[in-house]
Amino acid sequence: MSGDDALEQLAAHLHDARQIVVLTGAGISTESGIPDFRGPQGLWTKDPSAERKATIQHYVADAEHRRQVWANRARGEVFGGEPNAGHVALAELERRAALHTLVTQNVDGLHQAAGSSPEIIVEIHGNIHEAKCLSCAWRGPMADTLERVRAGETDPTCVVCGGMLKSATISFGENLVPADLERAQVAAAGADVFLAIGTSLGVYPAAALPELALRAGAVLAVLNAAETPFDPLAGFVVRDRLGDVLPALVERI
Ligand SMILES: [Zn+2]
Repeated sequence: MSGDDALEQLAAHLHDARQIVVLTGAGISTESGIPDFRGPQGLWTKDPSAERKATIQHYVADAEHRRQVWANRARGEVFGGEPNAGHVALAELERRAALHTLVTQNVDGLHQAAGSSPEIIVEIHGNIHEAKCLSCAWRGPMADTLERVRAGETDPTCVVCGGMLKSATISFGENLVPADLERAQVAAAGADVFLAIGTSLGVYPAAALPELALRAGAVLAVLNAAETPFDPLAGFVVRDRLGDVLPALVERI
């Protein structure tokens, strides 16, 4: 189902829901100018060697690569980007309806920047605003580590154990944080409405979340520009631009 009637009906489900769970992927942030990695115009689609460089094995093995990564970051060459109307609408959804958990595959922090409560956000692929140690549990603000890089440390190490530092994102070959994954799964399994937004639902474990929600009897809505494997199972499939359709949906609640 699609069109204005569908939007009205989906808004009614959101209004009546007691536990809404949202999953967002790269599609919501491309409208903020943040590159997608796997889409048709994605960085890794256009340059497969870039995907190899994004593995944890490459990061650990190649000191020159690490120095490059830190130098780029210290110069401010991270993806900037401001929250767009889609992010803002999801912050408003939290005020208007029972948004329980906002799971995101994005590492850009734009949901927080748009005003969503940090407590309800689960960043299953981590984030770029913190640095982490690969040997111990140390974490700290990325800005502090970048200060050290600007002061001359080309490959900064952990202040606690001397281990290698990296942004607090989950690279290929790295395990997800089990507590984050479990929180997302428990939320999805208790959802009565599940929105999958801007994600191709092709990568596990994110793709397991709508499955858990469906098994629990939730209404599933897929809002994504391209087809997903879950479209046939969804009560609502919406292809419109997220920056247009999300505000239109939320204002109907
Ligand atoms: Zn450490």
